[in-house]
Amino acid sequence: AKDAGRNRFSYFTPALQVAALNRMRLTNDLRGAVKAGQMELYFQPIVHLRTGRIHKAEALVRWRHPLRGMVSPLEFIPLAESSGLIHEIGEWVFQESARWIQRWRTDIHPEFQVSVNQSPLEFQREGGYEGWMRLLTDLGLPGQSIVIEITEGLLLDASNAVTKKLLQLRDVGIQVALDDFGTGYSSLSYLKKFDIDYLKIDRSFTRNLAPNSSDMALSDAIIVMAHKLGLRVIAEGVETPEQCDLLAQAGCDYGQGYLFAKPMPAAEFDAHLRGQPS
Ligand code: C2E
Ligand code: CA
Ligand code: CA
Ligand code: CA
Repeated sequence: AKDAGRNRFSYFTPALQVAALNRMRLTNDLRGAVKAGQMELYFQPIVHLRTGRIHKAEALVRWRHPLRGMVSPLEFIPLAESSGLIHEIGEWVFQESARWIQRWRTDIHPEFQVSVNQSPLEFQREGGYEGWMRLLTDLGLPGQSIVIEITEGLLLDASNAVTKKLLQLRDVGIQVALDDFGTGYSSLSYLKKFDIDYLKIDRSFTRNLAPNSSDMALSDAIIVMAHKLGLRVIAEGVETPEQCDLLAQAGCDYGQGYLFAKPMPAAEFDAHLRGQPS
């Protein structure tokens, strides 16, 4: 350590190389898992706060590494993006979701919706949603059975490609949710401009909700404004009954979080849905 300053590069480079090597290995493992159909799909309920009923869910991808166990999407989604695997993963998430939606529309609620996440890279990819719509049509499902969750950053530097994508979605009836709302450089003007259907209040707001707190005031204002613009509001990260009550009082439409349920394997979620009181 004494000559670490003098020889800074030889001190740090090995660590960087190890990190790069790990990323490479993990990316290779991910490629293998995707090809072998080893990704898993979890669902988390989105609860209608006034009635407590579940007619919506978010699809969340999972990867169980044979040696490392569950790898967080926060770790492998960036690898999937840099390697291009994200497109295959996204296709699989959509196909798998569509099959479950068909069951849940038949057995649980005729307007059951599933949201799928799209990273900016996926959303900005050339090409429309013809493939998706073909699959939905084959299953007898309308575009409205799918919600795509995108982040606000996409709208900020709304290139023609992004605008075009949003118009394509509107044409086929697929809905759009703005994820993690409030964490970026939120500008409200684009909410109406882009025909967004749902706004998801980020869990950093939900976490700090308390009567008369500034996050409460902000959430109140976001909900009022969203409703004026015709959007529905979903609060993320609802963990306590207090947070749930405050959100319901503020007129928030839906809640999602550990208070209701953690994300769970599709079959388990299916059983959860069938167990809800009718
Ligand atoms: P996200 O879209 O914001 O998803 C919500 C995350 O919050 C999920 O983490 C979920 O498990 C977690 N969560 C839900 N309720 C609570 C709660 O009450 N408390 C806390 N502390 N956390 C809660 P997850 O599943 O680890 O996913 C992380 C991120 O990975 C997602 O954030 C999303 O950006 C990305 N992701 C997940 N699945 C996909 C996918 O299929 N495609 C793409 N492109 N991204 C995905
Ligand atoms: Ca999301
Ligand atoms: Ca719409
Ligand atoms: Ca989110």
